[in-house]
Amino acid sequence: MNTRNLYWAGACAHCHQGRLIFQNDMTHRRLYVHCEECEWGWLHPSDVGDAEKGFLTLLQNFDTGDPTLEEIQQSEWRNYLTGSLRL
Ligand SMILES: [Zn+2]
Repeated sequence: MNTRNLYWAGACAHCHQGRLIFQNDMTHRRLYVHCEECEWGWLHPSDVGDAEKGFLTLLQNFDTGDPTLEEIQQSEWRNYLTGSLRL
């Protein structure tokens, strides 16, 4: 069984319950965060506190994967990393 190491960036401004999990958009080669509860997502750290600037990730048509810690640290999200979890 593979374990998934997930990294997250604070709480969701849309539902105020979920954590924002980092995900890779493999299709467009970019990093975004995605709420574990309501599936709301944000592309840029400057928008993450504003629910209206988010999007419903279920409606997006791109391939996703789990980013590594290195990928997060090399992105514009590096200062937003709050914690990690293992699934
Ligand atoms: Zn949410």
